Amino acid sequence: MSRNACAVVAKLRAAGFHAYLVGGCVRDLLLGRHPKDFDVATDAHPDAICALLPRSRPIGRRFRIVHVRMRGEVIEVSTFRSAVDVAAGVQAAAAAPRAALRDASAHVSANGVILRDNAYGTVDEDAFRRDFTVNALYYDPQDDVLLDYCDGMADIANRTLRLIGDPATRFREDPVRILRAARFAAKLDLRMDPQTQAAIAPARAMLAEVPPARLLDEFGKMFLSGHGARTFEVLERHRLDDVLFPLAAPAGVLFRQALVNSDTRVREGKPVTEGFLLAALLWPSYIERIRAAASAPRGERQRAFEVAASDCFTALRKTVAMPRRHGYFARDVWELQPPLERRTAADVTAALAHRRFRAAYDFLLLRAEIGAAPAALAAWWTEAQSLTPEQLEEHRRAAPAPAEPSELPSAQDAAASEAPRKRRRRRRRGGRGRARPGAMAANGGSVEPRP
Ligand code: ATP
Ligand code: MG
Repeated sequence: MSRNACAVVAKLRAAGFHAYLVGGCVRDLLLGRHPKDFDVATDAHPDAICALLPRSRPIGRRFRIVHVRMRGEVIEVSTFRSAVDVAAGVQAAAAAPRAALRDASAHVSANGVILRDNAYGTVDEDAFRRDFTVNALYYDPQDDVLLDYCDGMADIANRTLRLIGDPATRFREDPVRILRAARFAAKLDLRMDPQTQAAIAPARAMLAEVPPARLLDEFGKMFLSGHGARTFEVLERHRLDDVLFPLAAPAGVLFRQALVNSDTRVREGKPVTEGFLLAALLWPSYIERIRAAASAPRGERQRAFEVAASDCFTALRKTVAMPRRHGYFARDVWELQPPLERRTAADVTAALAHRRFRAAYDFLLLRAEIGAAPAALAAWWTEAQSLTPEQLEEHRRAAPAPAEPSELPSAQDAAASEAPRKRRRRRRRGGRGRARPGAMAANGGSVEPRP
């Protein structure tokens, strides 16, 4: 248990407030897992929390939460809040939307989405506004007392993920809870309660209404935290993947394999990047587009390929607010695939010197893993990286012609002729020298310099 979180609880209690560890940390401890971070809930208001605890500051627009820094750890402290009366809110909003929004107790849109719920409340009210029963347990580490208003302990014992209250209403209030359900079920290996599960299908279309910035947060939690492959399985089972990534569907095998590899990397403490996952997620739709673009006249083909890449990315950004740099990363990885396949002398030199070579090579390995690129080609590049220029040229001449046609359309005059110019331009802007092959972290560990 976090010494820092316990110290925060102790300070609040010493000042006469109630304070508990709450949420994911209590749940994880009870399930025998290592909590990712520690949250504290209290009846002290944000100003009082800040006055009491050094190195604390209020954050958040949606909720007023206080971040307390202690010995390098950040403890999130929130004041007990009460759930809004959703039924009353819906009625009021339907009758007089503006007045309803001004009314402090009715922060709900006409279709039942919670817009704000910053009304302070008691600890039991705070419990009932939380999402799942297993997330609504409060633990007092000083007196070793557990508060359980929503039967969370029973659900911990039988490993059930159950929404508090009426599932349809709770999903409508905040459709992100659907993704949280999928994520917790996958990560914690919990069985969804049948009513919670049954409420997903009727609510899934509402995910399209969630602000893209929030879906970006969830994207990271779902796919970059070490349980991506299993989470994606749950999403697919409930057909949530095509609501999230309407134009990327069918994302399929390559993305699944990328998630399996990412999960392994997270377990090994290696970096994983959004850009790489994005490249895998959007690859099928990119291929489809460049196949169409390949019929463009020679002089316009390169431009058509660039448009294809940016169209894929723009389509995704309608649902998930992915920063543009990840789109550029994916595009570089894609554009390096044809030269990696062709292997002319110019291709090999340019590819090895490219700052995204490492990620592009990993992407080629990924394609080979699912049988979408020849294993011999991947092996050729693995060997190529350890050779002197003379050996490399020999290696290149000895490369056998591919036995099967590539999944990529022929873009001979596209990527090859354009690549050097673009590299120069970007290098100058980023203020970086030429990257040595192999100098970057595996799997695209390098990050695009910030503008
Ligand atoms: P983890 O941090 O391991 O992903 P967590 O349960 O701690 O899981 P957080 O997003 O950190 O998840 O949220 C902390 C707590 O806040 C949750 O346990 C839950 O009680 C409450 N909570 C978070 N998001 C929601 C939501 N959308 N609706 C209702 N309650 C929520
Ligand atoms: Mg948490």
